[in-house]
Amino acid sequence: MPKTLPIPDLAAAAVHPDPAVGRTWQVSDRAQVLLPPPMADGFDEVGSGRTRTCDVVVVGSGPGGGSLARVLAEAGLDVVVMEMGPKESRFRPNYANVSRYHMQEGGTMVARGSAPMPIAAGRGVGGSTLVNSALSFRAPRYVLDGWAERLSEPGLAWEALQPTYDEVSRIVGVQITPEIVSGVNNTIIVNGVKKLGFEGGLAPRSTPGCVGCGVCYFGCPTRGKASTNLTFLPRAVSAGARVQAEVEVREIIVERGRAVGVRGVAIHPETKEEGGRVEVRAEHVVLSAGAIGTPRLLWHAGLGEQLGPHCGEHLQVHPGSTIIAKCDFPVEMWKGATQGAYFHHPDLPGVLPHTFNAPPEACLVAAGLVGDRFQEGLAMLPNLCGMLLMVSDKGGGRVRAFADGRADLTYEFAEDDVQRIKDGLVVVARVLQAGGAGELFVPVHGVSPSHTPEALEEKLRDRTIRDFTLYAAHPMGTCRMGASIEEGVIDASGRAHGLPGLWISDASVFPSSLGVNPQLSTMVMGTWIGRRMLAEG
Ligand SMILES: Cc1cc2nc3c(=O)[nH]c(=O)nc-3n(C[C@H](O)[C@H](O)[C@H](O)COP(=O)(O)OP(=O)(O)OC[C@H]3O[C@@H](n4cnc5c(N)ncnc54)[C@H](O)[C@@H]3O)c2cc1C
Ligand code: SF4
Repeated sequence: MPKTLPIPDLAAAAVHPDPAVGRTWQVSDRAQVLLPPPMADGFDEVGSGRTRTCDVVVVGSGPGGGSLARVLAEAGLDVVVMEMGPKESRFRPNYANVSRYHMQEGGTMVARGSAPMPIAAGRGVGGSTLVNSALSFRAPRYVLDGWAERLSEPGLAWEALQPTYDEVSRIVGVQITPEIVSGVNNTIIVNGVKKLGFEGGLAPRSTPGCVGCGVCYFGCPTRGKASTNLTFLPRAVSAGARVQAEVEVREIIVERGRAVGVRGVAIHPETKEEGGRVEVRAEHVVLSAGAIGTPRLLWHAGLGEQLGPHCGEHLQVHPGSTIIAKCDFPVEMWKGATQGAYFHHPDLPGVLPHTFNAPPEACLVAAGLVGDRFQEGLAMLPNLCGMLLMVSDKGGGRVRAFADGRADLTYEFAEDDVQRIKDGLVVVARVLQAGGAGELFVPVHGVSPSHTPEALEEKLRDRTIRDFTLYAAHPMGTCRMGASIEEGVIDASGRAHGLPGLWISDASVFPSSLGVNPQLSTMVMGTWIGRRMLAEG
């Protein structure tokens, strides 16, 4: 009998006035949410090679794969989760370490196109949740209702999905960032937002054991963040699922026109040397390798065309940039809950500003205080605060695979998105100054420091997207749901139109840009697809 762990019995906090936050929870005992990480096999256990059979093999252990594995394992199916990253998280508080162990392609994925744009995705048992800041928003009503209508699937409508949002947000303990761990950077934003009367404040995050150390991007040293390896995966493993880490899946086995398993190779977590081959045969194959990883694998495995004209298309990423401001009091922006504050501006729908937390070196780069300004930057470093903003993109790109298996990414900005990034930076400047900050720095070529938002607006006016230092960490939509193969890669249940036996469950399935940070919605879609698999066989 599968051992199903109870969903945490958390008291609901009052429903938040912002519908993107919705219901949050009071977590009095963090152990209710944060479970011991699952036992996983790694490189050594593969030895010279191994073959396994199961009901469902899931490739990828982030929110899309973990949430689906939990549903299927708890229903009694034999599930194997494959993950290419390390079987245990390897925390060290520096970029070099996180890039080496926990970022896909060593943190070097860059999209070509209108402007070079780095795109980040995590790696390891837990996927990108190991390195994300755990902001936990619900998708807007107009987005989900639009999907339901487009797919003629009432189950995807906003109202219909709220119980699943409640369920997953209890499993990961979503709560408003407590003041005690918020730190000065977040407090400046909260004060600014309050003064200007915008919607926002301390942000909802899935971090019930957060002590505000500010290094979520490197992995949580206190195990206070409810990443997938501490929530969905231990639940799945408790119900009988097995996790095989340190194996990169390279092939989908197709027999008589049906996906019947996957093949991969063990990769040593330190030396990256190749080890034994692994073959897993299954009734159903689920790809949960993320919105870059899933189409990258499909194209590399030679199945891209078969999956239809949308496979790897419609890459959306919530692109954005940062703004840094100088205060006449100490901030130490690397202290306090990572990205613990946010706001919405009524005239800028789809612009998502959050706190920018960064270690000192990244803060100086973001402020453009490098090169001959480095000494000046060092002197003002303790007094800098910052915000990051992203836009729900109208532009888009595509994912293909190079011959060596790395992602081949392109992305073209829509003019409207560029303007919204500029408008957003100006509004963010207002919030920071209302919160007590002064001089403004943006990482935009040709833009000198500004003393007022109006001056910043003027300087940004003629800048093109190539002048901006950009960043994106929310890849989505590359294997989108669609009613037929002419409209998408999978149907509303997650089943691939172009290959029986194949399903997809990750952020690639979103039919459009989400407009909020995607982890919670990816967990909801994984839960939805898992239940549809059970219903439809
Ligand atoms: C730095 C950063 C900060 C972020 N902050 C937030 C935030 O605060 N809030 C929020 O909502 N979202 C945030 N996100 C985004 C969020 O984490 C992702 O949207 C979400 O994790 C996507 O889930 P997924 O299941 O699609 O893929 P992922 O979580 O990326 O998991 C995919 C997994 O598949 C594995 N994989 C890929 N290819 C293969 C292969 N061939 N074989 C075996 N395994 C493979 C990868 O190693 C990875 O572990 C952030 C992301 C990053 C990178
Ligand atoms: S701020 Fe620190 S303690 Fe809090 S969740 Fe992030 S890494 Fe963990």
